Amino acid sequence: MDTFVHIAVGAAVGSGVYEIIVSRNFPSLENAETANNKINIPAATSGILAGIASHLVTDAVPHGDYLVNHGLLLPNKYWPLREFIASLLIFGLIAVTTRGQLRWVALIAGLMGGLPDIESLLIGIRLIEKKQALFPTHNGLIPHGKNLGLKSLLVEYGSLLTSLGWFVFRSRIPQRREPS
Ligand SMILES: [Zn+2]
Repeated sequence: MDTFVHIAVGAAVGSGVYEIIVSRNFPSLENAETANNKINIPAATSGILAGIASHLVTDAVPHGDYLVNHGLLLPNKYWPLREFIASLLIFGLIAVTTRGQLRWVALIAGLMGGLPDIESLLIGIRLIEKKQALFPTHNGLIPHGKNLGLKSLLVEYGSLLTSLGWFVFRSRIPQRREPS
């Protein structure tokens, strides 16, 4: 799966887990405001771990990187540039649609969702062998999702758009007030 998709999904899953745990611990609005003042370490840790775990799932589901492999975004030889620009745009969208502690959790969970692909890069440029990779979907312990045509397209870009849509949607619903 493309790294920018991993980033978007990691950020959405991670911030979702963070918000669920925070809202369970601090069901009332006043308490939630207090909670927003300082980072909730267990919730943030769980969110960031969920971001990493999402990389496993998004690698294992059917995907084909269609837009990318067909050079529809940029000719394929520019893939590092494409990943970089798309990732920056995604981080930017997350930054403007989130606030407070959630922003940091979302950005770090997104980063952690994408980071395992450094291994894919190292394999790609033949700096390490596949079997030396640590991540289970990179060393073959968990098989990589196959390209199943249209189904893959829906899974891949559906999860990208759902993740980004979630940030836009949640930024429009009334939020806890920020501590001043
Ligand atoms: Zn991967």
